Amino acid sequence: MVYDSYAEEVKEIYSRLDEQIREMKKLTGLSCPKACGVCCSKENIEATALEFLPLSLHLWETGEAFSWYKILQKEDLNNTCVFYKSQLSDNDTGACMMYFYRPLVCRLFSNAAVINKYEKAEISLCRILSGSRPELKEHIQKAMGMGLSVPVMRNYSMMIYNIHPELGGKYYPINTAFKKSLEIVSLSPKNFSNNRAA
Ligand code: SF4
Ligand code: SF4
Repeated sequence: MVYDSYAEEVKEIYSRLDEQIREMKKLTGLSCPKACGVCCSKENIEATALEFLPLSLHLWETGEAFSWYKILQKEDLNNTCVFYKSQLSDNDTGACMMYFYRPLVCRLFSNAAVINKYEKAEISLCRILSGSRPELKEHIQKAMGMGLSVPVMRNYSMMIYNIHPELGGKYYPINTAFKKSLEIVSLSPKNFSNNRAA
């Protein structure tokens, strides 16, 4: 299936990004407060279908895709992300049921720089981190000035876009993006009928 190769490309980008973030955190002390999952509880998170492709293929392979699709059919897709479970909050994986397969937007959030109006990379931290550690932004910004490598959101979004401009360039509310990616990996209504009959 052609989507397998897209998913592999996405996974390679995630692994490069994760490594860059790991190194940045080690050098700057950037880390989320224990068991915080505030960013996942928001209703306005957007992602592309391509970002979810590795997860959707994984769920298809493990036989869980159909049950997730049924959940999404019942959900208001504009609600909080279906993978957010506040009671799961953990220091390493936050409150995400699918942490290792989470999309690009979740990996970048509060771990990357935006390009400001002067075309300069500027670290972007969430309200929780800015509020609890007001010195952190300046500390990271200084380190960037001295050569620290920090992921730049625009660059990573462009890498995803370049894999497949349509699937990687169109943004949807996060649950819709997940639903679309499940459909892409052949969960069409026809396949559902076959699945039910099996
Ligand atoms: S990025 Fe911010 S809101 Fe999200 S888990 Fe970390 S500290 Fe909490
Ligand atoms: S996929 Fe995971 S990390 Fe991303 S918003 Fe949903 S619960 Fe949070």
